[in-house]
This record gives sequence, C-alpha cells and structure tokens, in this order.
Amino acid sequence: MNIKKENEHYKVESMSKKGTFYTVDAIKKTCSCPGYLFYARRKGDVCKHVKAVFEYIANLEYNTKDVAKKDASPIKNKKNSDGKKTKKEKEITEEDILNYIRKNNEVDAIELIEKYNEEILNRMIRQGTLIEIKGKIKII
Ligand SMILES: [Zn+2]
Repeated sequence: MNIKKENEHYKVESMSKKGTFYTVDAIKKTCSCPGYLFYARRKGDVCKHVKAVFEYIANLEYNTKDVAKKDASPIKNKKNSDGKKTKKEKEITEEDILNYIRKNNEVDAIELIEKYNEEILNRMIRQGTLIEIKGKIKII
C-alpha cells in the first residue's frame, strides 16, 4: 500500500481507486475512507488503511538501523538499474569494470550485472569494449 507521511497524518492510497488518498490519524486511529466512516467506526473497529499505517510505522522502527545496509545491497541496485538511473550508476566507471575483468580474465555476466550495472555493461558490449561468450564477459 502506498503510504506517505504528511505533517501529523498519513496519506494512504486507495487500493480500488488509484490516485485517491485517504487521511489516517495514527493517534486517534481514524481514517477518511468510506469504509471507516460508515462501517469500521460504528463497530469501534479500524479500517485497512489504519492497519496499514500501523504496519508501516512498525516496519519503520524495526528497519531504521538496517536501512543503510539494505540500500547498499547488490540486489536492490540491480532492481533500480532495470528502470531509472541510480546514483550507483554514476559512481561506477567503465574503468572499474575493465579492471575487475582484467584481474579475473573472464567474468560471469550475471556476476558483473549484480556487482556493477547492467546498462553500463550493455553499453560497453555495444561499443565493442567487451564481448559476451556463453554467459562469460571478456575484454576484446
Ligand atoms: Zn480507511
């Protein structure tokens, strides 16, 4: 669920109506969605948005210490490299990749993609700097 903190409240995106955000007050345990106003509140219950905010807050507190570590993980970087350009890409130079391959003579393509960045590798292959043979990357 898409959740944004806004001042004292949380904005939670509706699952059924994308782009519609409900306002959740985590302290009063209230929500501006019809499900809460017309149903949950009368039963003294909370709606799924309030529950989602509680989970969100709990996860935030639980993960705060690990966040830095998680951001640096290769899996996350690989995910990012599929779409938007990441900071990581700017930090990696073709020279880094060349040096790594020189050291190992040839390197598994998957390993390189996870270690560095798929876009840069593809570009270097297109430029003819690198060649991929049966899943191994070599310098031409
Ligand atoms: Zn709600």
